[in-house]
Amino acid sequence: MGTTHTYDVVIIGAGPAGMCAALYAGRSMLKAIVLERGTPGGELLNTELVEDYPGFERVLGYELAEKFETHAKKFGAEFRNGVHVTSVRKREDGQFDAETSEGDVYRSPAVIVTAGGTPVKLGIPGELEHAGKGVSYCAICDGAFFKKQTIAVVGGGDAATEEADFLTRYADKVYLIHRRDTLRSSKILQARLFENPKVELIWDSVVDAIEADGNGLVNNLKLRNVRTGEERDLAATGIFIFVGFRPNTGIIVDHARHDEMGYLITDDKMETSIPGLFAAGDLRSQLTRQVTTAVGDATTAAIAVEKYLKGLADGEKVPEIIGTGGYSA
Ligand SMILES: Cc1cc2nc3c(=O)[nH]c(=O)nc-3n(C[C@H](O)[C@H](O)[C@H](O)COP(=O)(O)OP(=O)(O)OC[C@H]3O[C@@H](n4cnc5c(N)ncnc54)[C@H](O)[C@@H]3O)c2cc1C
Repeated sequence: MGTTHTYDVVIIGAGPAGMCAALYAGRSMLKAIVLERGTPGGELLNTELVEDYPGFERVLGYELAEKFETHAKKFGAEFRNGVHVTSVRKREDGQFDAETSEGDVYRSPAVIVTAGGTPVKLGIPGELEHAGKGVSYCAICDGAFFKKQTIAVVGGGDAATEEADFLTRYADKVYLIHRRDTLRSSKILQARLFENPKVELIWDSVVDAIEADGNGLVNNLKLRNVRTGEERDLAATGIFIFVGFRPNTGIIVDHARHDEMGYLITDDKMETSIPGLFAAGDLRSQLTRQVTTAVGDATTAAIAVEKYLKGLADGEKVPEIIGTGGYSA
């Protein structure tokens, strides 16, 4: 039998959004806790170098993560690492229960879920070993590191098509590798891609392995044609993988509104369709996913939570859950 802990606000995930929400909640003198299944940092821990966070021309991902954590703790937020939240449920009395894999319950009248998302991996040799050293899942973040280079993009959907085109701003040559002989992406994106002289499509092919030089920097891809079985090498210094991104929203037990991709829909206060449940960062339905947008969302969410709690203390009635969810924007 686990223990029940009570807080003003429980924050799930210690990525940039969770740590920023903790900073603001702490500053507002709320009793806040951040529950993190690993160690604080989120996707920053998979990012070699960040060059687009204002105030830092160049900062290592893990260094920025450490600064976020130290700053949040300065204002009194508690962190509990190695705690995997398995479900978040709204109780009849309006409180939320966040239950962990150990069976502990963290109870609070408001929750900010900042659990981010997970890029789908190819699961091939070299992929994890060389992440951040030529293997990337984010074109807008890492594209600028591949100026005048030859790189590859893997995938056949909108993300792969759009990002292959985008990456030609930097790279001299971009191969788009797709396991079928047609793309799944929208026609307008395909038309733009096919007109781009820097892009070459490699159809019916998969990457079997990613190889690197003595410094661990990617320099070769092992390709296989799925129709003919023919194998070949492709010299490339980078590989961008866009075969899907899954928001980590499966822990929300009540049906919160989400878009067709499963990202949570919020209002401008970052509140989901479940009153008292706020969402910030990569798992929120929005145009782009960056550290700056994650901390922007989190700032709004934490300030909105403070007002929400004050409303509860003043006896304001909490509205009903809006809608029943479904795939509407
Ligand atoms: C390779 C790569 C490079 C990038 N480079 C840049 C860049 O240069 N600049 C930039 O602005 N952005 C970059 N990004 C994007 C940026 O990292 C994300 O937008 C940002 O980290 C989102 O923050 P977040 O807090 O919403 O989510 P995340 O960073 O994903 O953090 C979510 C946290 O929640 C935790 N968590 C998830 N589920 C649970 C659970 N059930 N219980 C407990 N904890 C849980 C996770 O362990 C994780 O720590 C990059 C992304 C990638 C993948």
